[in-house]
Amino acid sequence: MRPLIVGNWKMNGRSGQLGEIEAVSRSVTASRPSADVLVCPPSTLMERAARIVAGRIGIGGQDCHAQTDGPFTGDVSAEMLKDAGASAVIVGHSERRQHHGETDAMVLAKATAARRAALLAIICIGETTSQRDDGKAQFVCGEQIERSVPQDATSSSVVIGYEPLWAIGSGHMPSSDEISDMHAHIRRCLADRLGGQGNEVRILYGGSVEPSNARDILALPEVGGALVGGASLKAADFEAIFRAVSATA
Ligand code: PEP
Repeated sequence: MRPLIVGNWKMNGRSGQLGEIEAVSRSVTASRPSADVLVCPPSTLMERAARIVAGRIGIGGQDCHAQTDGPFTGDVSAEMLKDAGASAVIVGHSERRQHHGETDAMVLAKATAARRAALLAIICIGETTSQRDDGKAQFVCGEQIERSVPQDATSSSVVIGYEPLWAIGSGHMPSSDEISDMHAHIRRCLADRLGGQGNEVRILYGGSVEPSNARDILALPEVGGALVGGASLKAADFEAIFRAVSATA
């Protein structure tokens, strides 16, 4: 399993920041990291970003609608993302679940749509602070896998992003043991749901990954890469993270 490092720009970025994506793509060409690298800019920049990187890195969407076309004002379909140059899409990010009321069933439909459009679906799961405090973190993540990962998913159609909600953008990290325990649990849940393919699906860690902690996180068992928010906005920080994969290899 080749690790995957994903940058999620969220609702950040204007034309002036396309240079950061260009710098990342130049760096990947020059340094040939031991990981696949993908940047998910806002939809407004996707087509230009895809043209700039010309396949040297992947470009992904941050969400998609489950339908191909239709009366869904403001939405973008997986097919539209593909048409704009995307090779992947994040679905079920906790900010979508929280602010747009997305349920596991909706995430499942979006992941299915991604496959229909030949996009890699990065399915996000993760527990809240209170769920962890109540000892329910593994149960919650297991249910999210059961309900939002398509039953016919394969290692080339799906990646899991484990993002404890309390670690996103907060600078608070789970301990190495907590990450390892959860990733081992997710691996078991994937094997239950997908059989042999469940052992191949990459499981990314996300939540306050930075140049200073990337090396330690990426070296943990069952961590198949990282989902990076804030630190993906500056090419130099993001490069330091994907180069940390080579350092752990
Ligand atoms: C995210 O929101 O996907 C994320 C991981 O954010 P950050 O790296 O900023 O915590």
